[in-house]
Amino acid sequence: MSNQSIGLSEQVYHYLQSVSLREPTVLTQLRQETAQHTMSRMQISPEQGQFMALLIQLIGAKKTLEVGVFTGYSSLAVALALPPDGKVIACDVSEEYTAIARRYWQQAGVADKVDLRLAPALETLDALLAAGQANTFDFAFIDADKSNYDGYYERSLQLVRSGGLVAIDNVLWYGRVADPDVQDNSTKAIRAFNQKLYQDERVSLSMVPIGDGLTLARKH
Ligand code: CA
Repeated sequence: MSNQSIGLSEQVYHYLQSVSLREPTVLTQLRQETAQHTMSRMQISPEQGQFMALLIQLIGAKKTLEVGVFTGYSSLAVALALPPDGKVIACDVSEEYTAIARRYWQQAGVADKVDLRLAPALETLDALLAAGQANTFDFAFIDADKSNYDGYYERSLQLVRSGGLVAIDNVLWYGRVADPDVQDNSTKAIRAFNQKLYQDERVSLSMVPIGDGLTLARKH
């Protein structure tokens, strides 16, 4: 399951949550509603949301990008951590999932911080680049279809400023990336992506085993 952290025993995982998880009520409610959904494993884990919120504060982010919104947990966690003039440009193709997200952004009082772009994310990212927004974002979170990860990453890397952070989700892919018998397209795409980032000298790198694996790439 990706909505807890990979590789931890239930006992240790619950202990970690019991002494560190400070989940705002609105996020708990969103998580409970999303848990009823058949695609609920697409939601990030609550400790990952809290970790990303901390990253936002640490780098003093104001302008952020999200590729893959789903029901809005990560964008809401980020929006709550941003200053009042902060922004999330949120990319998704699903009217249905993002309707849930919108409801919670509203409820949390951060709807004015989130600019939802309902279109294929590659098109939205290309439009941002064409509009001269390269090097203007502080943070980008990539959590969408795995076959396009490389395209999302390359565009996000252009859009973030020097010292900005690109965070990529599901890089451990439920452990499948480590199993040579698994050869489906998404698994192969993530494997190739991980290998590429390992060699990528444009960024400093850390692969963090939180949630389903989160790679942090800081642009030089
Ligand atoms: Ca994910």
